[in-house]
Amino acid sequence: MADKKEKTFRFVIVGGGIAGVTCVEQLSSQVPSADVALITAGPHIKAVTNYKQVSKTLEEFDVEERPSSVLEEKFPNLTVIHSAVKSLHTQSHSVETADGRVFGYEKLCICSGGRPKLLTQDNPYVLGIRDTDSAQEFQKRLSKAKRIVVVGNGGIALELVYEVEGCEVIWAVKDKAIGNTFFDAGAAQFLIPALEADKPESAATCKRTRYTTEEPAPGASQTFTADRNSRRRGSGPTEAGSALGPDWHEGIVLRGTEQVSRRVSLEYQCEVEKIFTSEELLNSPQQTLRLENVGSWPVYIQLTNGKTFGCDFVVSATGVVPNTEPFLNGNNFALADDGGLHVDDHMMTSEPDVYAAGDVCTACWEHSPLWQQMRLWTQARQMGWFAGRCMAAHVLSEPIELDFCFELFSHITKFFNYKVVLLGKFNGQGLGPDHELLLRCTKGQEYVKVVLSGGRMVGAVLIGETDLEETFENLILNQMDLTPYGEELLNPDIDIEDYFD
Ligand code: FAD
Repeated sequence: MADKKEKTFRFVIVGGGIAGVTCVEQLSSQVPSADVALITAGPHIKAVTNYKQVSKTLEEFDVEERPSSVLEEKFPNLTVIHSAVKSLHTQSHSVETADGRVFGYEKLCICSGGRPKLLTQDNPYVLGIRDTDSAQEFQKRLSKAKRIVVVGNGGIALELVYEVEGCEVIWAVKDKAIGNTFFDAGAAQFLIPALEADKPESAATCKRTRYTTEEPAPGASQTFTADRNSRRRGSGPTEAGSALGPDWHEGIVLRGTEQVSRRVSLEYQCEVEKIFTSEELLNSPQQTLRLENVGSWPVYIQLTNGKTFGCDFVVSATGVVPNTEPFLNGNNFALADDGGLHVDDHMMTSEPDVYAAGDVCTACWEHSPLWQQMRLWTQARQMGWFAGRCMAAHVLSEPIELDFCFELFSHITKFFNYKVVLLGKFNGQGLGPDHELLLRCTKGQEYVKVVLSGGRMVGAVLIGETDLEETFENLILNQMDLTPYGEELLNPDIDIEDYFD
């Protein structure tokens, strides 16, 4: 294999998504003399634009698809190779691409993203949404559809059910509340009326990132009234092209054939038992169901709650699996439980000189008590950037420490046209029963949840224009004992920013 190498680069990055491109940019600016190659399967690369540091850890940006020439013009030492990597040979430090070429590397960073975890493979009536092509396919199919079933409770499902118009949507979630990856049942309850209402005009201009965590707090919905309420409760359980990202549905019309604006029916606490076609339904003698009960549809989905729905197609929005497959054969990568490439606090995998960043990897260092990995745009950018810095530091023999961005989990997004800010252990993740929640909610306006552990703030969910993110971020970072303030912390008549100045 070593003899066949067409060229050896100092750095090779695989994947033109946000992690790979950010890694390339970082390496090219830190070690401008080094030969860098970006090998990517898709025709375009993803670029971060309008980057804005909102606070110490919160960041916002747009993402654009661009021709790779833009990157090559900016970095003369960069070569972009458009082909998928089909195998990796860590011993000879080389990768082989689908078009039969072999490239050597001194240091390699794998940023190949993830692919949708589909309910079933090769079923023409089951669609996953990952990249531009699959989003277009979805749009095309939707334009002829009267009813679809969306399975999943993460960010993509949340976005889809809100955005789709002119088509009935049956939304099957395995949890007791919607958006479980992101919120508790209280926040879900706050958001549900937005699903029932017509979409505001401004919805079309919504900007930002979005996405998906945990058993809802039982009874959380009881706290909602039209007044501002501050309450303390005991803690309840409290190959693709690049992945799409913020606002992926903007510019594409998500409309079915019906006149209705939005019609979403929710099926809670259920999973998919079976998916079958009308022929299968007719030909199955055991099938107790008959077409007359469910109408005539191209495909049927049976849920574990015993209900069967006919629909035009099913959207499988049940998460992603890391895209590791081409890299594993013949090598000795340690894989995390979720299938991601195990990386340490220098973004290094278990194979020498091989780094990984973004959706393909799993952060296996000892996390800060306030951070967790979620496969999101922001983390793909941060990991790509940090991997680039580590690779550069290692070739320059410079020391490097884990970046500050991994201190505190933070994410800004939009759900159902509300601004949503998530900070730290926003859902009490990993805290066990030893935490308290403070809530404030004004129906249709804002939902504020603070997670306290030992009197210190460890997480928050802010929905609506609360303007609290910076103050709460500071309170979480400085771990001040907030016991003396008690429920006053969320008193709407106190200007909390002034209070802690
Ligand atoms: P990707 O963006 O998936 O890029 C992987 C790259 O690797 C691609 O260029 C691909 O072509 C290339 N590649 C793959 N295999 C190979 C190979 N063998 N050889 C060469 N190249 C290869 N996150 C948010 O924060 N907010 C959101 O609102 C949001 N919405 C989303 C909506 C959708 C529909 C989806 C699917 C995801 C969304 N996400 C969102 C998640 C976010 O898009 C991902 O976390 C992020 O894009 C991951 O970036 P990445 O660079 O690791 O991987």
